[in-house]
Amino acid sequence: MKRRVYVFDTTLRDGEQAPGFSMRVSEKVRVAAQLEALGVDVIEAGFPIASAGEQEAVRRIAQQCQNASVAGLCRAKKEDIDAAWDALKYAKRPRFHIFLATSDIHLEYKLRMTREEAIHAAVSAVRYAKSFGAEVEFSPEDATRSEEGYLIRVLEAVIDAGADVVNIADTVGYAIPSEFARLIRLLRSEVRNAERARFSVHCHNDLGLAVANTLAGIEAGADQIECTINGIGERAGNAALEEVVMALKVRESVFSVETGIRTELIYPTSLLVQEITGVHVQPNKAVVGANAFAHEAGIHQHGVLAHAATYEIMTPESIGLTSNRIVLGKHSGRHAVRKALLDMGVRVDKEGLDFVYERMVALADEKKQVTQRDLLRIVDQLKREKSHTDAYQSVSETAEAGS
Ligand code: MN
Repeated sequence: MKRRVYVFDTTLRDGEQAPGFSMRVSEKVRVAAQLEALGVDVIEAGFPIASAGEQEAVRRIAQQCQNASVAGLCRAKKEDIDAAWDALKYAKRPRFHIFLATSDIHLEYKLRMTREEAIHAAVSAVRYAKSFGAEVEFSPEDATRSEEGYLIRVLEAVIDAGADVVNIADTVGYAIPSEFARLIRLLRSEVRNAERARFSVHCHNDLGLAVANTLAGIEAGADQIECTINGIGERAGNAALEEVVMALKVRESVFSVETGIRTELIYPTSLLVQEITGVHVQPNKAVVGANAFAHEAGIHQHGVLAHAATYEIMTPESIGLTSNRIVLGKHSGRHAVRKALLDMGVRVDKEGLDFVYERMVALADEKKQVTQRDLLRIVDQLKREKSHTDAYQSVSETAEAGS
């Protein structure tokens, strides 16, 4: 039997707090609905004490979520925990996510706390949060640059205080995979009460190693992974959910773990986050980039047509690009265009349909066959040229309208 790894998505917190990625409350609520459909186990919805908007977003997401746990970020302070509870109390499965740095550099220069003061603050916060009867996750911030003996003491203390999950954060993207795996193994074996908590990993991409470190963490026994859609997040971003999940799936025999992710919703989810933030992934982005399944070289095209597995280690269908093959031609009508768009989770109004149809016909004149990817490019133009919101609606809105 495969070990279950829990997926904690922080697109709406770590992702959203990065410059240029902010979302309105209603947009965060839409993304949360899509994340829940995608099958993530925990949605980190925001940092409630940060602003009224954050508070409202966390509350609305807490009210809306049926299956996923909803987490709110808190410093190790009573007022943060109280503010978080005001929003989280509506959730079926509320989770406090308390963080406090454990590295000397953070303690000394940022927090101006001694190690003993930090342990005391962490334990008090976890104990207080636990009194609400919710799940409590504790993150030793900058764990990978913390002294190991001290990190072990902090983890033992917060687990004794009731922490259900401890999240080992490579906050500054400093670790390399072999070292990160060694740290996770060490903590799991040396932390006296390790079996009473789940171990989580939270990796940043400053050296382009977030996904590699996350996978190394899983191999070392991590029970939970923290990631974001398209890898958005502070600075160079967080581990990309789609890359970690597809690595686990494509190389299943190596990892022997499973997640609750419905991979066929990866592409629509990625697209929704790109549309809402207005930030598009680079074409050569793994899994969801426009070129991820494009085969330009003639010899590659020949191979893929003869047998897709010659150059494709996963199918476009497995991430929700249901038919990257031919979908439409110049004889296709508006009805077929609407149907092809719906298959991709995109709903358009009459004006939007006219826009897509006219460009599809023009394109079909040029290149005969219009693929799903071509259609997505046209939808992208539609989104950019028409500012009105009705012309383009994502799959999550369709789902919202239906329920
Ligand atoms: Mn982070």
